[in-house]
Amino acid sequence: MAYYDYFKQFRQMSPEELRRKAEASMENARAKGRSYEPVILQGRPRNICKTWWGDAWCRNLERYADFASRIDRGKRYVRSGAVVDLKIHGGDIKAKVQGSRRTPYNVEIKVDPLPEKRSREIEEKSLGKIKDLAALANGEFPEELEHLFFSRDGLFPTPDEIHFDCSCPDWAYMCKHVAAVMYGIGVRLDENPFYFFPMRGLDVDRLIDKAIENRLDSMLSHADVKSPRIMQGADLLEIFGVISS
Ligand SMILES: [Zn+2]
Repeated sequence: MAYYDYFKQFRQMSPEELRRKAEASMENARAKGRSYEPVILQGRPRNICKTWWGDAWCRNLERYADFASRIDRGKRYVRSGAVVDLKIHGGDIKAKVQGSRRTPYNVEIKVDPLPEKRSREIEEKSLGKIKDLAALANGEFPEELEHLFFSRDGLFPTPDEIHFDCSCPDWAYMCKHVAAVMYGIGVRLDENPFYFFPMRGLDVDRLIDKAIENRLDSMLSHADVKSPRIMQGADLLEIFGVISS
């Protein structure tokens, strides 16, 4: 790398300059037939995330090492559209973040699956929450589930359960590009809270099925009937009314 270029990469760019470079990179990717999925923050003047769960993810970032020194730059980067590509496949997150260099940097984040014991605990705690899980299946994320997922033993990865890598020359474990991607993940979770589950190796469909099964078992054991086949229409309505509410 040329002497001038070496120092240029540490220079702070204005948001406009960063945005222009990011747009040029996306244009270049389009011309080469690559499909980038940028993080777009439209209509979010104050908070980066709109939902309580996305916001909880962003607040949780403060638990990670090195984050305090990168928090503002990470925010500025994601706001300037620097996260030109972000793809989440289970616990494997790959992103491209525009920096001062012409080509975006490659960021990789890996989230470990939940340890068996914790995943069983979450499953057990979920069983009594059929109504909430049903809302989840409808793409909502009821606040009653907050403790279940975001407590110390919840779904959020602890600093030991998440691993960062960036192709930039910053020596910090969490550079501004990684920080920007972490905010980008919050935006994706805002759009679809279901990313939480595969990210920790949990099968949400199985979780919902088990919770429904549990609910049916408990209703049948309290009902004066021998099997679901001879249940009255009203009982079925009651069950499915709960499920779809
Ligand atoms: Zn970096």
